[in-house]
Amino acid sequence: MTGAGRFAPSPSGDLHLGNLRTAVLAWLFARRSDRAFLIRMEDLDRVREGSAERQLADLAALGLDPDEPVLTQSSRREAYDHAIDTLRFAGRVYECFCTRREIQQAASAPHAPQGAYPGTCRNLTDAERDERRRAGRRAALRLRADVTTRAVHDVLLGDHTGVVDDLVLRRTDGVPAYNLAVVVDDAFQGVDQIVRGDDLLSSSPRQAYLAGLLGLPVPEYVHVPLALGPTGTRLAKRDGAVTLRDRLDAGESADDVLAEIAASIGAPGCRTVGDLVTRWQPDLLPREPWYVLGHDA
Ligand code: GLU
Repeated sequence: MTGAGRFAPSPSGDLHLGNLRTAVLAWLFARRSDRAFLIRMEDLDRVREGSAERQLADLAALGLDPDEPVLTQSSRREAYDHAIDTLRFAGRVYECFCTRREIQQAASAPHAPQGAYPGTCRNLTDAERDERRRAGRRAALRLRADVTTRAVHDVLLGDHTGVVDDLVLRRTDGVPAYNLAVVVDDAFQGVDQIVRGDDLLSSSPRQAYLAGLLGLPVPEYVHVPLALGPTGTRLAKRDGAVTLRDRLDAGESADDVLAEIAASIGAPGCRTVGDLVTRWQPDLLPREPWYVLGHDA
């Protein structure tokens, strides 16, 4: 095997069918390209007690076992600090004292690029920074980016150019930011293929740019369509029996659930990941969102 793919859930609750489908796809893309399959727990934020264990059990029940021990982001603080130091030595880090509200107000100004940090704190003088500190404001750390867009290539979606801004590296509360942690960990784990929901496509230009600044390779991206509930919004608990446990409680088996996921990715009749690995190929994957219908909880 060369290289690795991964599934990187946040342990904030049980995985729903859409998350499980993304995990199956990550596993399949990895297996079909002779890569290892890894699981990483992104537990820097939004953690619910016991959720990581339940997610891993659900993934195992579907046959999605990782090839290496699970990496947990909360054990990796030193690596994130080290990456921030590297950027700091390169003159790429500045303190940002803005509140979310201030950013929203400034970002809605007519000339601001959509979704980008407007650069308010980029060129503060030492005196201005001191003044904010004295006023009791806490600082986040931001990247001093020298581009405003970046192109990435996605295996399913083709070329995508998106916004790169002065993204947050460390939040005001001291927690390393998602974009930084993902980039540092994917490189550390040898991940060279990222399969994830297409809601994260817009993060890829920022992550690819950050990887370049840190001297890390840019992985292959595969953004897959999301699962939607019956009303067309993102699949959620309120949509009924949408987790593996809900389905097991309703009398289905793990293979029944896998069969439903297999049908949704273009491989009806497959009931195990073993079936899928021989019969599924990327061309079969529908490019529209997957509507998960029916099933009362
Ligand atoms: N932890 C993120 C999530 O659950 C996914 C991160 C990624 O795949 O890059 O939404």
